[in-house]
Amino acid sequence: MARVYNFGAGPAMLPEPVLKQAAEEMLDWHGSGMSVMEMSHRGREFVAIAEQAEADLRELLSMPADYKVLFLQGGATSQFAMVPMNLLGGKTSADYVNTGYWSKKAIAEAKRFCRVNIAASSEDASFTYVPKREKWRLDPGAAYVHYTSNETIGGVEFQWIPDTGEVPLVTDMSSQILSRPLDVSRFGLIYAGAQKNIGPAGLTIAIVRESLIGRAGPGMPSMFDYKIQADNGSMYNTPPTYAVYIAGLVFQWLKRLGGLGKMEEINVAKARLLYDYLDQTEFYHSPVAKEDRSRMNMPFTLKNAALDGEFLKQADARGLTQLKGHRSVGGMRASLYNALPIEGVKALVEFMGEFERKHG
Ligand SMILES: *Cc1c(COP(=O)(O)O)cnc(C)c1O
Repeated sequence: MARVYNFGAGPAMLPEPVLKQAAEEMLDWHGSGMSVMEMSHRGREFVAIAEQAEADLRELLSMPADYKVLFLQGGATSQFAMVPMNLLGGKTSADYVNTGYWSKKAIAEAKRFCRVNIAASSEDASFTYVPKREKWRLDPGAAYVHYTSNETIGGVEFQWIPDTGEVPLVTDMSSQILSRPLDVSRFGLIYAGAQKNIGPAGLTIAIVRESLIGRAGPGMPSMFDYKIQADNGSMYNTPPTYAVYIAGLVFQWLKRLGGLGKMEEINVAKARLLYDYLDQTEFYHSPVAKEDRSRMNMPFTLKNAALDGEFLKQADARGLTQLKGHRSVGGMRASLYNALPIEGVKALVEFMGEFERKHG
């Protein structure tokens, strides 16, 4: 069977060489006589796999030594709670920037633990832009500043890293991580669910500056405490071993490709193909402010929404799948994560052109 171009927002495509290697190694990993799924997480083989994965991630991100990498579970959604649980450190409030659906989820969860100051919001324009840093109203007494670097549903992406002075910067990078080079030193904490650019769902990565670890108050469940996770090398309990292994293969694929600089070049080219097309037609429309458009998730609408169903049906028949927009936004959404090849974007733009000529 031919593989499709999957434009889904997550779980998303994985690089084909990674899937092939996993298939080859499925029954017998490197002569161990076992699948990685069957290995003890404390055994020599898996410990080597996890250590290599961490080393490769550190190399890809040129990560400074004073950051811990945690392989966790529970998705980015669990981090919405773990962030305030771990970082408040006796303070009573945190600053949040509200740029859409995922920001709102993070804010709602944080409110269970502290006072939330909305430092900036783009709700006034249906979350179609990133509020300029000059407009933010930060509280110097806040425990941290949280923002969502790429809004997966709204298709709004920060093309810059905010300066928050002495207050630690925290970001939900689920749908942006590894799509471009990153200056980790600007952050106190970066977290991401794996199922967009890292690997299979079930793994969540947190990158935490060491000085922020160990601030949890009494009554903290062990599994949610960054310090306990860090002290135990993310093996306080059984980690999601197979997901860590696949993530490791993805990191090696990125290294072979030439690293995150090369990945960014490709992602820029992919995004340009689609946006250039959207900008020269009246038939389709992109709602997002040009300078804040996401390279990863492109929501767009058809001028005539009555054609949505037909568009999706015909796209699907060509192997261009999961283009339906999120229910909260409607229309279409094309997610062009790292593993989606540029040929997929070309095929999409070609189809969109044909559809326009037929129905425009
Ligand atoms: C997908 C996504 C989430 C939710 O991740 P889960 O792993 O399902 O908890 C949170 N934030 C962003 C930006 C996302 O893209």
